[in-house]
Amino acid sequence: VWNNCLQIIKDNIPAQSFKTWFEPIKALRLDGNVLTIQVPSLFFYEWLEEHYVGLLRKTVKKQLGEEGRLEYNIVVEKSSNSIPYTTNMPSNGNGAEGKNQSMPMPISLNKDIKNPFVIPGLKKLQVDPQLNQNYTFENFIEGDCNRLARSAGYAVAGKPGGTSFNPLMIYGGVGLGKTHLAQAIGNEIKRTLTDKLVLYVSCEKFTQQFVDALKNNNINDFVNFYQAMDVLIMDDVHNFAGKEKTQDIFFHIFNHLHQSGKQLIITSDKAPKDLSGLEERLLSRFKWGLSADLQIPDLETRMAILKKKMYSDGIELPGEVIEYVAHNIDNNVRELEGAMVSLLAQSTLNKKEIDLNLAKSMLKNFIKNSSKEISMEYIQKLVCEYFEVPIEMVKSKTRKREIVQARQISMYLAKLHTKTSLKSIGAFFGGRDHSTVIYACQTVDDLIDTDKKFKGYVADIQKKLKMS
Ligand code: ADP
Ligand code: MG
Repeated sequence: VWNNCLQIIKDNIPAQSFKTWFEPIKALRLDGNVLTIQVPSLFFYEWLEEHYVGLLRKTVKKQLGEEGRLEYNIVVEKSSNSIPYTTNMPSNGNGAEGKNQSMPMPISLNKDIKNPFVIPGLKKLQVDPQLNQNYTFENFIEGDCNRLARSAGYAVAGKPGGTSFNPLMIYGGVGLGKTHLAQAIGNEIKRTLTDKLVLYVSCEKFTQQFVDALKNNNINDFVNFYQAMDVLIMDDVHNFAGKEKTQDIFFHIFNHLHQSGKQLIITSDKAPKDLSGLEERLLSRFKWGLSADLQIPDLETRMAILKKKMYSDGIELPGEVIEYVAHNIDNNVRELEGAMVSLLAQSTLNKKEIDLNLAKSMLKNFIKNSSKEISMEYIQKLVCEYFEVPIEMVKSKTRKREIVQARQISMYLAKLHTKTSLKSIGAFFGGRDHSTVIYACQTVDDLIDTDKKFKGYVADIQKKLKMS
């Protein structure tokens, strides 16, 4: 009967899916109109139920009549003392072993193992966590830009799976330290709780492994491997966009780990609510724990990062050079480090001491190419030219309508396009306090909503600003 079912199923789904999800199934027995099949794991069962329940039901009814029923026998995952979940994949005779040498090896067990995801039962499992040793909390400079994310990360490292920060989602733009912080949590856990199985994986690598596992017919081992972790760090989940099947499998792994009280750490370039191309059910999981963002560090933090880096590389630099670099490279930490590295390289090549002058001439190109901060002076100039009002007037006390308007728009744009604090914006525009700036921004916001002409003005000026 099962063979007949298989025939029908085979004709209705892609060959690859059939091979992956149906070939490993064993028919156990037929009692009256109840057919019992054996599936290799709980995960397997869930997957079948989720994706093929309709097809299975129809097929079984076709073979056994309206009363026909299907029962599952799930191979229980054998557990040993040290490993909560071990695979117990029955030999399914599909010859998968030996075909998959191309699989990137995520575990450093024993080079002879053909299938890298098979976790040998009873033997204490060792997994190379794939962490960079330099990415520690020690080396991660704290600042306003990362305080919440850092302290949440530290809490998670102290009690993986035992805080309400599960998953912990770290998000922020490129080069702001997501990978560093996520790995710092992993390194800290490995240092203090040596028995924990920690694994770092990028979304791309996970996807590649999944594709290979599909090809080699060892999905079950792949999933079991990931589900055996105590701490799973998944980097750059925005790259899951559009990859539905990979999201699906991650969703299952996520659920399994979360239900078993295991820690998930996820990074992304956007907040969960702004991620596109990801399934809603996955996004809603990401919102379960805590999302914390990383911002662009302020000048002091940038200087501290450079100093720390120089210190650990054993290099001493004049303070003014560090300040110059930190002041001018202000969009991301990776570029900041890159600029410093190229400066050091240049000085070695040219056998010249690094001083401010050298830094200035060497970094000229670097700075031109990186997005330079828009200054408040420049905003003021653009706005005043646009409204044809004298530049000095916006800083004056005058309450003339068109001047007030130019002043408020300037403050609004300064808040939007510079990293200046409200206090400093107020001070710049004629020594006003920060509540004046807040009021100005609200007024402009309201006018944009209600006054089409006004909205057009602001849009025009912003366009000019962007072109510069
Ligand atoms: P992302 O993953 O967000 O793109 P990374 O974690 O790769 O960024 O960080 C880029 C570089 O900046 C790394 O070398 C990292 O060590 C460094 N870095 C970022 N933030 C900090 C920080 N707060 N303190 C020290 N180094 C940092
Ligand atoms: Mg990264």
